[in-house]
Amino acid sequence: MKTEVIIIGGSFAGLSAAMPLVRGRRQVVLIDANSPRNRFAKKSHGVFCIDGKAPAEIRSTALSQLSAYPTFQVVEQTATKITQTPDGFVVTLNNGETYEAKKLILAMGVTDQLPDIVGLKEHWGTSVIHCPYCHGYELRDGALGVLATSEMAFHQAVMIPDWGVTTLFTQGQFNPDGEILAQLIRRDVAIEKTAITQILGDGEQIHAVCLTDGRQIPLNGLYVAPNVVIDSPLLQSLNLETLATPMGVTVKVNNFKESSIKGVFVAGDLSNPMQNATLAISSGMMAGVSAHRALIFND
Ligand SMILES: Cc1cc2nc3c(=O)[nH]c(=O)nc-3n(C[C@H](O)[C@H](O)[C@H](O)COP(=O)(O)OP(=O)(O)OC[C@H]3O[C@@H](n4cnc5c(N)ncnc54)[C@H](O)[C@@H]3O)c2cc1C
Repeated sequence: MKTEVIIIGGSFAGLSAAMPLVRGRRQVVLIDANSPRNRFAKKSHGVFCIDGKAPAEIRSTALSQLSAYPTFQVVEQTATKITQTPDGFVVTLNNGETYEAKKLILAMGVTDQLPDIVGLKEHWGTSVIHCPYCHGYELRDGALGVLATSEMAFHQAVMIPDWGVTTLFTQGQFNPDGEILAQLIRRDVAIEKTAITQILGDGEQIHAVCLTDGRQIPLNGLYVAPNVVIDSPLLQSLNLETLATPMGVTVKVNNFKESSIKGVFVAGDLSNPMQNATLAISSGMMAGVSAHRALIFND
């Protein structure tokens, strides 16, 4: 099937990218496997006007609003291949169908690789979290931990006392010193060097962490920065340029969200060094408007 713009990924960034295009009366096919990054959280927080809404409810509201435009089509499948042609791009789905478009918007998100600690995955998105602005308020006032997965954790540990009494768990691998150590001390952050081996909790709520020396430290919430990877086979097939940032690798884009390949725009976590729903929505709008302009000016 031929269309004007294909969007791969139908969460915050992809859905937002579709809006200016369909309002500009352009044909859009949005392909989505419906596995957004925040699917482990019951509620999405910190997004203006929809604070506390369930991720699935946000998606279905966006889809129903987009579906009111006659040029919008959603396909709930996984894209498996992208081929560049003289006229644009052909996207193949896992059911063998193909879609052809002049412009492409990639909004496939990223993958979180979590530390391999017993009990951690089970509480991810509820009381083991990565972002204080997303879920920190809900865990306020209790005993909080920050598990170091890199030296970036020192900076997060300096912030977290705004939400509760904080312990930085260095796992015996990362040693704060100099000015950052002084800041941790100023903020009353306790530093625990013995490694966490297990996280204890009931259902969604953690209660404590177990250390290698047998001690248990009571905790209400644990912050963990996952290793964020961009691992979609679709990116490899296009061989897009990437960018290393202190927060991880992203796809390289210009201010208009165009990638190193003309006609391919990239939005959301895939191209944002700082990642949250609001920034994904914003970058989706930019990618959608840029793809529209590229159709008009034949860029
Ligand atoms: C546990 C957790 C909780 C979070 N809570 C919050 C919060 O409360 N507030 C906040 O602002 N931010 C939160 N975030 C961050 C937020 O989830 C992300 O910044 C946001 O989801 C990024 O949106 P996105 O559209 O770029 O990607 P995603 O939301 O990850 O969506 C990508 C979409 O692309 C689809 N896709 C991927 N590959 C393909 C393919 N080959 N074919 C078809 N579809 C494909 C996926 O299935 C998915 O639907 C949270 C993150 C995590 C990990």
